Amino acid sequence: MLNLLGAAEIREIAERIGVNPTKKLGQNFVVDANTCRRIVKTADVQPTDVALEIGPGLGSLTLALLEIAQEVVAVEIDTRLADELPVTVARHDVPIDRLTIVNKDALEVTELPIQPTVLVANLPYNVSVPVLLRFLELFPSLNSGVVMVQSEVADRLAATPGSKSYGSPSVKATWWADVTAAGNVARSIFWPVPNVDSSLVKFVRHESPGDEALRVMTFRLIDAAFAQRRKMLRGAIADAVGGSAVAIEIIEAAGIDPNCRGETLVLKDYVALANAFAKRNNA
Ligand code: SAM
Repeated sequence: MLNLLGAAEIREIAERIGVNPTKKLGQNFVVDANTCRRIVKTADVQPTDVALEIGPGLGSLTLALLEIAQEVVAVEIDTRLADELPVTVARHDVPIDRLTIVNKDALEVTELPIQPTVLVANLPYNVSVPVLLRFLELFPSLNSGVVMVQSEVADRLAATPGSKSYGSPSVKATWWADVTAAGNVARSIFWPVPNVDSSLVKFVRHESPGDEALRVMTFRLIDAAFAQRRKMLRGAIADAVGGSAVAIEIIEAAGIDPNCRGETLVLKDYVALANAFAKRNNA
């Protein structure tokens, strides 16, 4: 077992490198080793895994990952944190060649030096959904993962039709994976203590329902349906498909009630609509 970071060491590192946690970058650092181990356990990280961490910060979760995973690749936007991470890892007696740091905005990453197998991250809250969807899309080698996000976002990601939290992220995430809630995390384990609650979300990749062209059309329909979620489906998707006559035609071809609302549909319905649209255009 490694000696993981505690509250005192975290403050000492932050002070030494001049990091004053900013809200803009969602910098709330975990100061509790048990929580870090719990996250790694929930993600079921194995010794053969290459773990991807987005926003390693001062390294609390990184060290817990290095305790089990073969390698960690960490994407950090803040250069001071990215530069200090290898120092912290070496100080905790982990060979630094097991860690690869990418000092970049996660939203601009298009490739990684090694293919990750599991995503484990305490995501920066303001970009958590786009970051998660982007990495699921770009890195098919990611088989599963656990992310910590704002509880409200966790509810949205794991929501099913009929719940108030059900929205476009809930449907889009299911293109790639089964997504489930994996428990709450106390505010007191962060420094600084955030003014929102946090929860864990687990995902396990499954086979996607189709190719990239089908995904793009499916996501366009999802966005249109949820942009006007109180409207009936045929009205909400009309602009996206070139008019209400086309909307009615593809809704009927997909075997869906044209008077329903998009918020009652699941991914398979949107895929059926996108397939009906493609078939109509190719006819
Ligand atoms: N993993 C650390 C922990 O649990 O203590 C820090 C988590 S903190 C919530 C979020 C981290 O993400 C910070 O280190 C922040 O600098 C970094 N970050 C914020 N926006 C980012 C972005 N767009 N791309 C990569 N890292 C980002």
